[in-house]
Amino acid sequence: MTTIHCKFCGGVIHAPTNIEYRPPRASAQVALTTPEPCTCERPIVYEHAPVEPPEDEPAAEHPSARVPATRSA
Ligand SMILES: [Zn+2]
Repeated sequence: MTTIHCKFCGGVIHAPTNIEYRPPRASAQVALTTPEPCTCERPIVYEHAPVEPPEDEPAAEHPSARVPATRSA
């Protein structure tokens, strides 16, 4: 898995389903990446949106690789 960093705050995105994809461009303002988690409501990534959102990948081969998501709501 590749770690995705929010281009707005530079934090690590843990909820890829909320990502707001924007077309890549040279003039885009990109924050320095940090190991801190992104707290943006809509993390911004300058990438083309994937054809299929990886929201429910079947982890049949290595189910132990799942990362527990923390939800406080
Ligand atoms: Zn962010």
